Amino acid sequence: MGNIVAIVGRPNVGKSTLFNRLTQSRQAIVNDEAGTTRDRQYGKVDWTGKEFSLVDTGGWVINSDDVFEEEINKQVQVALDEADVILFVVDVLNGITDLDIEVAKILRRNKKPVIVVANKADNFEMHAASAEFYSFGLGDPFCVSAINGSNSGDLLDKIIETL
Ligand code: GDP
Ligand code: MG
Repeated sequence: MGNIVAIVGRPNVGKSTLFNRLTQSRQAIVNDEAGTTRDRQYGKVDWTGKEFSLVDTGGWVINSDDVFEEEINKQVQVALDEADVILFVVDVLNGITDLDIEVAKILRRNKKPVIVVANKADNFEMHAASAEFYSFGLGDPFCVSAINGSNSGDLLDKIIETL
């Protein structure tokens, strides 16, 4: 299996935390500050005898809103070029932002399978908040907490199913 799964999304939604959770490593740098430069990270995931490569598409230098949007477009384009499945990570604590809408628009135009990952669903009350992500038109949002690991096994099942 040469399957590639790419994580995309705006800064601070928890992409790197999710990468580390799914690869069970601390490879990706988790940072509270948007604006740090980070490289793309590749990791192997083994799940129930199935294997895939996971890519954390960090890699930004952010100093203005324009660069911000340009960078996210680039990030998503690279992911769409190389990946078989896209994990579009959003954040139930902050809800939908303009950048999320921008990413969703690009993803909708493409045929690659997308899983909308509603991260930071740390407790059950937060699950209800994920309903707003239906509006992306990219399918059912999948609630996880990258920090406490809840639902990460189910997400891995879903990824394997989608590949
Ligand atoms: P990235 O910029 O998308 O790669 O986001 P990071 O992985 O660097 O995380 C950004 C911030 O969100 C950090 O402070 C993380 O600790 C926090 N974070 C990530 N996942 C979760 C989660 O599941 N729940 C909560 N409450 N915080 C999270
Ligand atoms: Mg990151």
